[in-house]
Amino acid sequence: MNTGRISEEAEVVVVGGGPGGSTLATLVAMRGHNVVLLEKEKFPRWQIGESLLPSTVHGVCRLTGVADEIAKAGFTKKRGGTQLWGANREPWTFAFSVSPKMTGETSYAYQVERSKFDQILLDHARHMGVDVREQHEVADVSSDEDRVRGVSYTDADGNQGTIHAKYVVDASGNKSRIYQRAGATRQYSEFFRSLALFGYFEGGNRLPQPNSGNILSCAFDSGWFWYIPLTPDLTSVGAVVRRELASKIQGDPEQALMALIAECPMISDYLRDASRVTQGEYGELRVRKDYSYANTKFWRPGMVLIGDAACFVDPIFSSGVHLATYGALLAARSINSVLAQTVDEDTAFREFEQRYRREFGVYYEFLVAFYDLNVNEDSYFWSAKKVTKNTSSELQSFVELVGGVSSGEAALPATESADHYKRRSSEFSSAVDQLVANKEQSMVPIIKSSIVKSAMQEGSKEQARVLLGQDAGSEKPLFAGGLIASPDGLGWSLPSA
Ligand SMILES: Cc1cc2nc3c(=O)[nH]c(=O)nc-3n(C[C@H](O)[C@H](O)[C@H](O)COP(=O)(O)OP(=O)(O)OC[C@H]3O[C@@H](n4cnc5c(N)ncnc54)[C@H](O)[C@@H]3O)c2cc1C
Repeated sequence: MNTGRISEEAEVVVVGGGPGGSTLATLVAMRGHNVVLLEKEKFPRWQIGESLLPSTVHGVCRLTGVADEIAKAGFTKKRGGTQLWGANREPWTFAFSVSPKMTGETSYAYQVERSKFDQILLDHARHMGVDVREQHEVADVSSDEDRVRGVSYTDADGNQGTIHAKYVVDASGNKSRIYQRAGATRQYSEFFRSLALFGYFEGGNRLPQPNSGNILSCAFDSGWFWYIPLTPDLTSVGAVVRRELASKIQGDPEQALMALIAECPMISDYLRDASRVTQGEYGELRVRKDYSYANTKFWRPGMVLIGDAACFVDPIFSSGVHLATYGALLAARSINSVLAQTVDEDTAFREFEQRYRREFGVYYEFLVAFYDLNVNEDSYFWSAKKVTKNTSSELQSFVELVGGVSSGEAALPATESADHYKRRSSEFSSAVDQLVANKEQSMVPIIKSSIVKSAMQEGSKEQARVLLGQDAGSEKPLFAGGLIASPDGLGWSLPSA
């Protein structure tokens, strides 16, 4: 092992380069801050969580500027979901386009191979000025009585280093080793105590058009299956079984998965001509258990938790990447506002935690109702309306909840709002761009140049108003006495009286 010790400074250190980490890092770098992202693996790397929501691809990803890159990648379009679920023994389908918040170009999401999707997000973070370092594993955080002060890591050559930072972001996923350092304990859900056994198949059937890209979820006696069409030929298939039936996935995983498939006629039928992939990143059968939890705290001074490091709820409606990227947006706003000294730390992070917990809580409460298999879909639609307090129809409330756009968050609903923020951000950048007359392709020199940095940092709110005009949007605070998004969507503002 190399004994070299490196000591550095950064404004923000992000631990983990999944969707949460790379989104947060990008949104903070867009305000001109110095961000280092440490990722333990060498990308591309496999990850579960392949079915996305419109809120992620048209909301947060448009704001970070990566949406067009994702659109070019050729991922399968997911227009909604098809379920064999509840008292109705026929499959029923919902389309995102039912909601006026997800019309036209925003009425779909994607089914993604995560190794490719996560790589695009991480490369984009790099392009936007984040100092991304792969094969850097964070061992611990350093702190004193007042706040967290930085991290220690080991790189691929065995070099150990420390980075002192104003903020450490734990985006290191469900296996986080450092979340406790925010003073948090993880509380596992008693209700969602399940196990998943999953693998990949080639040659599986597809739902009839226009639903061939939908996620298919099928309930059966021991639990439920997901069936996600990743490419025309490749399908992700997973069985989720209740904890008291854990014995069904013990022993040989191949036999266990085949026995579970045999219990579920619709999945058996869809896989009748398919063969299981046995090589490469999709060759392994994997098991995950006890995966629904929330931490007691999401932040302490100097440290914030996002994505699976903070909370995760059962995957039935594919909310994991949505919660991770939404949490990243909220935390980035808080960090940006505190660094710009426009909002004090306590107020900024209280706003983050309240909004994040609310979104998690809405999914949690709805999913508890969804697991009642003795009722039909109308009852699920009604539950969605109840938990989201939506004033639209039951069906629309359901579709907005499972599309990730029911939070009341202006940046998420559709391209229109995310575009509004993005336009504001880019008008601001190009106004400054003209000042420095920089012709480089990459945003890095522009964002890092001191003139831009100081222009972006000094009283960012007031300067943005001057450059962008008085268009702060008409957003209302989500909580009494709370904050609203700033004009560029990257920070918080006080609502005007
Ligand atoms: C069975 C199952 C099915 C799921 N299906 C879906 C789905 O269909 N759709 C969906 O949206 N979500 C789904 N999810 C959830 C999804 O996998 C996660 O919510 C999502 O990946 C969280 O993103 P993240 O950025 O928080 O963490 P991750 O994607 O886990 O990224 C964390 C990163 O941190 C790195 N890291 C870890 N430790 C360190 C360290 N010490 N130092 C440096 N780097 C580190 C890791 O290598 C990793 O790259 C599913 C989850 C389960 C369990």
